[in-house]
Amino acid sequence: MNRRNCEYVVIGGGVSGLATAWYLSKAGRDVRLLEKNPAVGGCMRTLHQDGFLLEQGPFNVLVRDPAFEQLLGDLGDDIEVEPAGPDAKMRYLYLGGRLVPLPSGPASLLTSRFLSTMGKMRLLAEPICARLPKGDDPTIGEFATRHFGAEFAQNVLGAFVTGVFGGDADRLSLKACFPSLGRLDREYRSLFLHGLSVPIRRIGKPKNPRRRWKGLINFVGGLGAVSDAIARGLGNAVSTNCEVTSIEHRSEGYCVTYSASGVSQSLDTRHVVLATPIGQAIGLLESMAGERAGQIGALLASVESVPLVVLNLGFRREDIGHDLKGFGFLVPPTEEGLSFLGVLWASSIFPSHAPPDRHLLRVFAGGAKRPELAQKNDGELVALAMDELRDLLELRGDPVLVNSCRHAHAVPQYYPGHTEMVRCIRAQLSSVPNLHLVGNYLEGVSINDCVRQARETVQKMVALPTEADARSGG
Ligand SMILES: Cc1cc2nc3c(=O)[nH]c(=O)nc-3n(C[C@H](O)[C@H](O)[C@H](O)COP(=O)(O)OP(=O)(O)OC[C@H]3O[C@@H](n4cnc5c(N)ncnc54)[C@H](O)[C@@H]3O)c2cc1C
Repeated sequence: MNRRNCEYVVIGGGVSGLATAWYLSKAGRDVRLLEKNPAVGGCMRTLHQDGFLLEQGPFNVLVRDPAFEQLLGDLGDDIEVEPAGPDAKMRYLYLGGRLVPLPSGPASLLTSRFLSTMGKMRLLAEPICARLPKGDDPTIGEFATRHFGAEFAQNVLGAFVTGVFGGDADRLSLKACFPSLGRLDREYRSLFLHGLSVPIRRIGKPKNPRRRWKGLINFVGGLGAVSDAIARGLGNAVSTNCEVTSIEHRSEGYCVTYSASGVSQSLDTRHVVLATPIGQAIGLLESMAGERAGQIGALLASVESVPLVVLNLGFRREDIGHDLKGFGFLVPPTEEGLSFLGVLWASSIFPSHAPPDRHLLRVFAGGAKRPELAQKNDGELVALAMDELRDLLELRGDPVLVNSCRHAHAVPQYYPGHTEMVRCIRAQLSSVPNLHLVGNYLEGVSINDCVRQARETVQKMVALPTEADARSGG
């Protein structure tokens, strides 16, 4: 009899793969995780340099999924949460060459300077002007314009979408990117009137459970500390420097071939979980040579991703005149004055990310707005940043630290039709036994979403008969 090396192989050690392996291991399953890089984490990695903490991808997490909360709780003393500082609530938009504070609530929305009088009147007229969507899958831009007017849609929603997806609100699907907002849009003509009725409809209903971590958090040592802690918890189940090159379907499972430091090896397994970025997932699906796997790969090939460069710039405190009190600012896509997508005041949000006498800025370049900027080298990007940010942030000296991280396929873009495509993929997957997909190209790009998808996938997997069940005919 062909003995398997393990029951589950997870391919890819980013947060999606790590969370999948974690939940499988918690369910008592025999799992191996193969990661091609020398370290786990994928884009959730942190560099430590000259007293700075340099996040290479994500910068903060919003923990909304109870199972994610549980995972972080299970890691116990191995990780320590760092909540965002109080100033992080203050956010800005770059408008007409100035930084305009984003309103903290609906009332200040009407007194703030970021909307014209016409824009404010259109906002107030939402109960009269708003309409239900014409189609089933509107874009975020169409939704925002229909409810709140073009000015709000472009300046606020447009900038927010750039901040989360690096994308274009006029091309992204509301339903796929913000599912709960999509549901409200389909059900209620006016979101304003719906909002007013919520407290009345809540009377007598149980309160939502209290969340342990509210708001944005990071961790002592950065987000990379969480990736490392999960990997430590998984112990020998994790193998780094192992790049999976092909997957072969065998009668009762799969043979996964990988290159371990240049040496070709293979593992027999019953289940395969693809937790790689979308491009590598398509390649591995093609290597399987089955008709269904090919069809899934072809569906995935239609998902575009945008490139992003994160430019971490460290400054002496005395070289920045601006007080940097706040989270930073986003640049609406219609603004011509700045080439960048936004700038986070990283050391104001998480003071441990820079030595006490330094500031750390995180500048985002590329995205759907200026993808060609991702091709520029560090010197060119730093020169552009200094040129465009000098007056705005009162920069008086050059950065003492420059670090860049480039993501050629940073964030998958969910265009209208995405939700339907994911439904088709799930339908196709149901006829490929024991093959599973997790990752940010399916149902949510945030870390919280990746962990939620991992948990849901594991729940489905552990509900399937195990190998022992199959052998005993159970
Ligand atoms: C610049 C940037 C900023 C972001 N900011 C935030 C933020 O602030 N908050 C937030 O919640 N989200 C943020 N996100 C989104 C979030 O970080 C990602 O969606 C998430 O980390 C993706 O995790 P993943 O495990 O699906 O993929 P990845 O992190 O890409 O991991 C995939 C892993 O698979 C491995 N792999 C690939 N091919 C193979 C192979 N053949 N064999 C073995 N291993 C392989 C890779 O080496 C990698 O380690 C950001 C993303 C980017 C790019």
